[in-house]
Amino acid sequence: ASKFLMAMTPNDPGWDDLSGIKDGPRMNATFVTLARNSDVWEIAKSIRQVEDRFNRRYNYDWVFLNDKPFDDTFKTVTSSLVSGKTHYGLIPEEHWSFPEWIDQDKAKKVREDMKEAKIIYGDSISYRHMCRFESGFFFRQELMQNYEYYWRVEPSVELYCDVHYDPFRYMHENKKKYSFTLSLYEYRETIPTLWDSTKKFMKNHPEHIAAGNSMGFLSDDGGENYNLCHFWSNFEIGNLNWLRSKAYIDFFESLDQDGGFFYERWGDAPVHTIAAALMLNKEEIHFFNDIAYFHNPFTHCPTGQDVRTALKCHCNPDENFDWKGYSCTSKYFEVNNMEKPEGWDEEGK
Ligand code: GDP
Ligand code: MN
Repeated sequence: ASKFLMAMTPNDPGWDDLSGIKDGPRMNATFVTLARNSDVWEIAKSIRQVEDRFNRRYNYDWVFLNDKPFDDTFKTVTSSLVSGKTHYGLIPEEHWSFPEWIDQDKAKKVREDMKEAKIIYGDSISYRHMCRFESGFFFRQELMQNYEYYWRVEPSVELYCDVHYDPFRYMHENKKKYSFTLSLYEYRETIPTLWDSTKKFMKNHPEHIAAGNSMGFLSDDGGENYNLCHFWSNFEIGNLNWLRSKAYIDFFESLDQDGGFFYERWGDAPVHTIAAALMLNKEEIHFFNDIAYFHNPFTHCPTGQDVRTALKCHCNPDENFDWKGYSCTSKYFEVNNMEKPEGWDEEGK
C-alpha cells in the first residue's frame, strides 16, 4: 500500500463514524478563500466538495477575505456550508492598492501593451492587486494571525478523492512548510525580470538562502536563468509562520520595491514557489499525490489504481497532468531523488 495511506482508509469500518475523530487532536489551522461577492455560487461548489471529502469530519474554520465588504447572501450561503466557524475579513486599502513608489504612467503603458499582446489578465488592475495580496498580505490579515496552517481554496475547484487523514497534521508532524498538487511552467511574458529581482535578493540576503534548497527545480543552469517552473498556488497547504518570517517578508518587500507586480504581471504562484524553493530545505516542501484536485484547466488525479480505489476517487487518470510535458512535477521528483508512484508510466498515455 502507498506510504500515504496513513491510519484509517475509507474502506475501514468506522470511516463514516464521526465520533472517533470528534475528540482527536486538531491543528491550529484554517481554510482561506479570497473572493468577490459574485463568486458566491462557485465558491459554494468548492466548499461542498471540501466538506464532503474532508472537513465534515474535522470541522476546521474558514476565513473569507475580500477587498469589498461581503454581502448577506455570501455570508449566509458560505456559513451554512462550512462545518467549522466562518470569519469574514475586509482587506485594508494599503494591502490592495498601488504603493506610492509606483509610476502610474509606466504601469498604465504596460497594461495597454499587454492588452495588445493578448497576455492573459495583462490589462487588469484588480488581478495585479490580487497577485500582490496573495504574495505578501493574506497571511498578515488580522483574522489569520491566530492560525499556524492554512489551506487555500478558490472558487470552481474540485476535490476528486476522499482525504483520509488530516493534511494539516501531516504538515505539522513531518515539519512541512509548503505543499502542492500541480506544477507547471509560467508564461514568460508575465515575469520577464522576476528572476533578476530574485538574484538581487539572493545577493543582498545570502543569510535567507537555505543550504538544502531546491534551486534545481527553478533553474537548469545552476541559478543563472529561471526555467519558469512553479507550484500552482490556487491549491496550497502551508505554514503561516513561515510566510510571516523575516526571510519571506524581506523577499516580498524586495520584490515589491522592484515594482514587477505592476510593471509586469507577477503571479503569486512563481513568487511563493521561488521563496519556498530557495528559503526552505527540500524536505520542507511536500507533494500531495493523494489529494486529487482540479482547477481549470488542469487535473491532479493520483497516480496508482490502489490509491484511487481506496479513496473513492472519481477523476479520470488519463487526465492526470503530472507526467505530461508541460508539468514540472517530473522535475520535482528528479530534484528530490523521489521514486515516481507506481503506474506513472502506464496511466494517462
Ligand atoms: P486565476 O485562477 O488566475 O484565473 O484567477 P481567479 O479569477 O481564480 O482569482 C484568484 C483568486 O482571487 C480567486 O479566489 C478569486 O475569487 C480571487 N479574486 C480575483 N480577483 C479578485 C478581486 O478583484 N477581488 C476579490 N475579493 N477577489 C478576487
Ligand atoms: Mn482561479
